[in-house]
Amino acid sequence: MKNINFEKNIKLSNYTTIKVGGLAEYFSIPFNANDFIKLIKWSHLNKQECQIIGAGSNLLINNIFLKGLTICTKKMKTININSLSGIVEAEAGVMLPTMSNMLAKNGLQGGEWTVGIPGTVGGAIYMNASSGNLSLAKNLLSVKVINIKTLEIFDIPKKDINFQYRFSPFQQNNLIIISAKMFFEPQGNVKELLETTRKNLKSKTETQPYNLPSFGSIFKNPTNNYAGKLIEELGLKGLKIGGAEVSTMHANFIVNSSTANSQDILDLITVIQQKVLQKKGIFLQPEVRMIGFDYS
Ligand SMILES: Cc1cc2nc3c(=O)[nH]c(=O)nc-3n(C[C@H](O)[C@H](O)[C@H](O)COP(=O)(O)OP(=O)(O)OC[C@H]3O[C@@H](n4cnc5c(N)ncnc54)[C@H](O)[C@@H]3O)c2cc1C
Repeated sequence: MKNINFEKNIKLSNYTTIKVGGLAEYFSIPFNANDFIKLIKWSHLNKQECQIIGAGSNLLINNIFLKGLTICTKKMKTININSLSGIVEAEAGVMLPTMSNMLAKNGLQGGEWTVGIPGTVGGAIYMNASSGNLSLAKNLLSVKVINIKTLEIFDIPKKDINFQYRFSPFQQNNLIIISAKMFFEPQGNVKELLETTRKNLKSKTETQPYNLPSFGSIFKNPTNNYAGKLIEELGLKGLKIGGAEVSTMHANFIVNSSTANSQDILDLITVIQQKVLQKKGIFLQPEVRMIGFDYS
């Protein structure tokens, strides 16, 4: 492959925020959408599995040899902001905290909440990331994708994407997100927007274990309830398996206290599920995406 760097046997633990994960057979970090597309085409033409990771902030990757090509998008950082029209075009690897601050500086409203989510635009669309009743999907106009089976590239308008709580159709189809077009309300007060953005980040770091390796919320909130509340009521904060621990700060977070492996984390997830099911009669559905496990 011309002009494309890819390496072999790369440790994926360096590319997940929980700091666990096995080895990728082939690994690449493209700097732009063109190289990203070339890599996807290469994997298809060479009949290799292709796995996409963004910032790895919602991923539990098993400690295995992951065959095929793993592509990390986090260096695809091009973003174009039109502060008059409010139209923003961002490559899949643009980090939400970076975008959030840029929107505020350009007087665009509606992205202040995203500052606390350490993921990429592509990962946020795939996961339908949200906070309270705010979600990136609300600002979306369209998504540029490539079909990994046919290599067709096209735009999908937002109206054709059926987003649900922590679900997007990209979790079930063959489409990989290349970039997104969004709209944010223009002509906001820059000073106020920057202040709201700063406060939002502060409130996240004060209530969630931002300084420790984690993958954000472990479980989706069940209807009319909160996973964190159910786990906390059972006194599970601080419960440990190996180096994996239920955060003492927020019960819906598992933190890696430096020595955890992927099995410790999966075992802890299973124990929490069993206890909540036994005592509360509710099955907690993981929010975190799992790679290389038989989990379904
Ligand atoms: C401290 C902390 C706080 C968090 N707070 C929140 C929160 O408030 N709200 C919330 O919703 N989430 C939160 N998260 C979870 C996480 O940050 C989000 O789900 C985020 O959107 C994931 O983006 P990512 O780039 O890290 O995706 P990854 O974890 O790298 O990937 C997640 C999934 O998306 C797929 N994917 C990634 N990029 C693409 C692409 N370009 N095309 C196709 N598929 C792709 C991957 O294959 C994988 O299946 C938090 C996480 C942490 C660590």
